[in-house]
Amino acid sequence: MSGTENLSPRAARLREAGHKLTNARLTVLGVLEESGGHITSSEVLDKVEAIDSSIGRASVFRTLDLLTSLSIIRPTYLNSSMTPTYVLMPDGHHHHIVCTNCNRIIEFENCGLGAIAAELEERLHVKLTGHLLEFYGICEKCS
Ligand SMILES: [Zn+2]
Ligand SMILES: [Zn+2]
Ligand SMILES: [Zn+2]
Repeated sequence: MSGTENLSPRAARLREAGHKLTNARLTVLGVLEESGGHITSSEVLDKVEAIDSSIGRASVFRTLDLLTSLSIIRPTYLNSSMTPTYVLMPDGHHHHIVCTNCNRIIEFENCGLGAIAAELEERLHVKLTGHLLEFYGICEKCS
C-alpha cells in the first residue's frame, strides 16, 4: 500500500494503535466499510476470498479480533448464536432495538448515555471507549 494520505479514518486508527497496515487487514476493513456493517463473519470470509484468495481464514479472524479489540467493530449475535454479526462503531457506539417476534432491528442514534458513562468512569476508575446497546421488545408491526 502506498502513501498514507488516503487512509480511511479506521485504517488510520489501526496504524495509530501501532499495527501494520497489511494487505489482509486493509482488505477486511474495506469489506466491512463497504458493507456498512451488519455483516457476519462468514460473509466477510466470502467477500475477502473473492477479492484476494491468498488471504487465509485465520488472518481474517485475527483481523476481526484485532478490530474488535480497538472498538472499531463489535460482534453481536442477532440471528444466531453461532456466527457473530459485526457492526461498525461510529463514534464508539451503536444501538439496536431488536423485535423478539420478527427479529427486525431498529437503529437509533442518540442514546443519552454520556452521563452514565461519565459516572461509571469516575466510580469504577475505568476509561470507557465505547458501547453497544441492545433493547429487546415488540415492534409496531408485531404488537
Ligand atoms: Zn416485529
Ligand atoms: Zn446496527
Ligand atoms: Zn450510545
